[in-house]
Amino acid sequence: MIVAAEPLRGFVTAIFERMGGPPDEAALVAASLVDANLLGHDSHGVGLVATYARHFDEGLLRPGTPVACIRDDGAIMMYDGGRGFGRRVGGEAMAQAAERCRDTGVVLMTLRNAHHLGRIGAYGEIAMAAGLVSLHFVNVTDHIPSVAPWGGAEARYVTNPVCIAVPGTENTPPTLLDMATSRIAMGKARVAMSKGEPLADGMVVDARGAPTTDPAVMYREPRGALLPFGEHKGSGLALMCELLAGGLSGGGTIQPANPRSHSIVNNMFTILVDPARLVDVDWLRAEIDATVAYVKSARPVDAARPVQVAGEPERERRAERAVAGIEINDEAWAELLIAARELGLDESVIEGFVC
Ligand code: NAD
Repeated sequence: MIVAAEPLRGFVTAIFERMGGPPDEAALVAASLVDANLLGHDSHGVGLVATYARHFDEGLLRPGTPVACIRDDGAIMMYDGGRGFGRRVGGEAMAQAAERCRDTGVVLMTLRNAHHLGRIGAYGEIAMAAGLVSLHFVNVTDHIPSVAPWGGAEARYVTNPVCIAVPGTENTPPTLLDMATSRIAMGKARVAMSKGEPLADGMVVDARGAPTTDPAVMYREPRGALLPFGEHKGSGLALMCELLAGGLSGGGTIQPANPRSHSIVNNMFTILVDPARLVDVDWLRAEIDATVAYVKSARPVDAARPVQVAGEPERERRAERAVAGIEINDEAWAELLIAARELGLDESVIEGFVC
């Protein structure tokens, strides 16, 4: 299936509306999933609708839940997401923290107990829209681990993402580093499995800890594990996501005494900084322009592939997919339709979309 972004947003909004939350929440979450597809992160796109529907059905996702402030102490702001839609509660917490940052210059914001936050870059974008720099460390709980620590033959983390956002200038687009701490997202193993394709070397190990390219090891017992990016360094960063996001938010880490109800709960540790409180902004903009241009000017290994910086591949993909549409694989498409039907979406709406 190749679908244009706009009708896909409408269809997914209609599915989420069936969960009983307010229409603007359904539209926000749908838009954020379609955005992930547009940016090329299909693992965080509309393929998640069926997962969200299952969590809703089991009472593990609570639509219509606003974020709750649990501590408001100057530059320290702590929130609880109450298992509400991550994009809603995360966006609300970010908006309040960005507003506070105008006064305080720096804010440490934590969010615990949010249902899946999705693409963490979305929160960096909220900070950048307010002219702020932001750093985000996120852990994933209420789920079995899927990523091995460096040197480990079995999983101890999930894909704990990290994001750092630096606003752009008139000449340089925003620099947005937004990444899992595993070499690949779990969704990429799933896509490879459904296409019957092997993974590249170095992405997964089997249940004995032996290297393999077979994505199916992630889905059959005894399970294999994804590998962390950057060997011991990525593994160390994943652990810091546990300790910062899980520990300092109060939401808890992946350690086995904490609940594992097979949903996805994200905790986030965020630092927001107003650059104007630190340096002259015109000087900073000139430094950003010069640094990014310098990095990109490196002679490429392959002349056909110029050096890029973080955020650039996503901008390119958005430009392509906005025109060409979003490709949804058969399995994800079938699951989307099942979720729509199980939530009782009117058959005429489904047919109207499918035709
Ligand atoms: P990725 O590996 O595709 O990209 C990671 C980063 O590297 C991006 O900032 C990208 O701009 C940059 N990049 C990619 N290719 C580049 C190149 N050639 N040159 C320079 N920079 C380049 O992304 P990922 O690690 O698969 O993560 C995908 C998404 O999944 C992210 O949005 C992340 O937030 C999300 N995620 C969310 C959760 C969660 O629990 N909510 C968990 C894991 C991942």
